[in-house]
Amino acid sequence: MAQKKALICGVSGQDGAYLAQLLLKKGYSVCGTSRDAQISSFSNLQRLGIREQVKVTSMSLTDFRSVLQVLKKVEPDEIYNLAGQSSVGLSFDQPVETLESIATGTLNLLEAIRFTEAPIRLYNAGSSECFGDIGDRAADETTPFQPRSPYAVAKSTAFWEVANYREAYNLFACSGILFNHESPLRPQRFVTQKIVAAACRIAKGSTETLYLGNTQIQRDWGWAPEYVEAMYLMLQQDQPDDYVIATGSSYSLMEFVAATFDCVGLKWQDHVVTDESLLRPTDLAISRGNPRKAKEILGWQAQYRTPEIVAMMVQERMAN
Ligand code: NDP
Repeated sequence: MAQKKALICGVSGQDGAYLAQLLLKKGYSVCGTSRDAQISSFSNLQRLGIREQVKVTSMSLTDFRSVLQVLKKVEPDEIYNLAGQSSVGLSFDQPVETLESIATGTLNLLEAIRFTEAPIRLYNAGSSECFGDIGDRAADETTPFQPRSPYAVAKSTAFWEVANYREAYNLFACSGILFNHESPLRPQRFVTQKIVAAACRIAKGSTETLYLGNTQIQRDWGWAPEYVEAMYLMLQQDQPDDYVIATGSSYSLMEFVAATFDCVGLKWQDHVVTDESLLRPTDLAISRGNPRKAKEILGWQAQYRTPEIVAMMVQERMAN
C-alpha cells in the first residue's frame, strides 16, 4: 500500500506537534505548514524530537493562491486544519484577524480541495466555545451554538462551512468539537500553563504573585496527546461526521490552581491574587462535553482527567 500523506496546517502549535508525532508513528509522510516556515523555530517539533521527519512549508490560509499551491505541491490524502488565531482572550483584541484566519482560512481550504478535485479528507479544528453558556448540561453534537466571543463566532462559522461543503459537494470533511486540552506544549498565554509555570517558578524560589481573572469558571480539560488521536480516527471512518471530544468531567479553575500548587508543595492562598482587569468582556461559566458519540463510533475515550493532567504538566516543567 502507498504511504499516506498528511498535511497539517498549523504544525508549529501544540496539537500540530502531537498530531505529527502520531501520524509519523502510523507511517505517514507528514508535511506541516506555518505562516512563515523560514522564521518559525518549530520548537514543539524539536521538543518531541521529530523536527527532521516533518517537511515544512509556508502557507497563508487567508490567501487562496497560497493554499492551492501547497495542496498541488504536497498532494495530501488527509488535511488537518489546526491553524488560526487560537486564543479566546486575544480574539476580543484582534476580532478581524481571528475571523479571517479561522473562517476565511477554512473556506479557502474547502474551496482549494474542490478545485483540485482530489479525494482529500479534511479535519477541521472546531471548538467547544461555540456552545456558549449552557449551564450545567454537558454539550453534545445536537446542542445549538451560542457563541460568546469573536473566537467562538469564527469557529461557529468555520463549522457550518465544513457542514455545508460536506452536504453540498460531498466532500469528506469533519469538524471535531474539541473541549480544552492541555499539555506541556501549551503556550503560557493560556491560563493553565500560566498557572503551572508560575507555581513551578515560585517553588524554585521566585517571590512573584500570580494574578488571575475569574477562578470560578469550570472547564472540561483533557490531555492533548490523546485528543489528536480522535482527529485521526475521524478521518478513518467510512462516513464524514462531526464529533464532540471531551472527558465528560469539569473542574473549576480554582481546583486547577489548588491542585497545581499542591503538586509543588505550596498553598495557593499565599501566592494567588484575583485581578479584575483580567476578566473577559464575556466568559463561559461552565463548559462540559458529552463524548458518547466519539466512544460509540470512533471507539475513542479520554483516559486522563484534570488532576492527572496537572500532575503531568507540573512534572515536566519542574524537570526543565
Ligand atoms: P496553537 O495556538 O498552539 O497553534 C495554532 C497554530 O496556528 C499556530 O502554531 C500558528 O502557526 C497558527 N496561527 C496562530 N495565529 C494565527 C493567525 N492569526 N493566522 C493564521 N495562523 C495562525 O493551537 P492549538 O494547537 O492549541 O490548537 C489547534 C487548533 O485547535 C486551533 O485551531 C485551536 O483554535 C483549536 N482548538 C484548540 C483547543 C485547545 O484546547 N488547545 C480547544 C478547541 C479548539 P504559525 O505561527 O506557525 O503560522
